[in-house]
Amino acid sequence: MPEGIYEQLQRWKETKDLALASDICEEMVNSISEWYRRDANVVIAEVMEWGRDKHLNDPKAQLNKVIEEVGEIAHEITRNKYGSPELVDAIGDSLVTIIILSDILGRHPIKCLDSAYQEIKNRSGKTENGTFVKES
Ligand SMILES: [Mg+2]
Repeated sequence: MPEGIYEQLQRWKETKDLALASDICEEMVNSISEWYRRDANVVIAEVMEWGRDKHLNDPKAQLNKVIEEVGEIAHEITRNKYGSPELVDAIGDSLVTIIILSDILGRHPIKCLDSAYQEIKNRSGKTENGTFVKES
């Protein structure tokens, strides 16, 4: 049986081994990340339920929200604010608006995502100026 975190901590108290302290920290960070990682399907279902609860059912109104939120991503990126909390917020808001738009249109967002990915994953082409250009 592998040594658990409490046994490692005990051993660290005795040895004060810095390499062991580093391993313990890394393991704790990983387990905390795992704890907070929620299943994407659960989050998506909750977002769709939220949209339905709020009676969001107008595709054009929802499209305006999508554009507004993507515009907020653009606002951060064009100002080189790659690490800003506002960028994280804008990406999350964009995903929420797209999920709700999909639901309004009677499409499951993961099915849309998967069918797009199945089509693009085997495309041949090359990346030019940071953009993938498919072979025609
Ligand atoms: Mg926003």
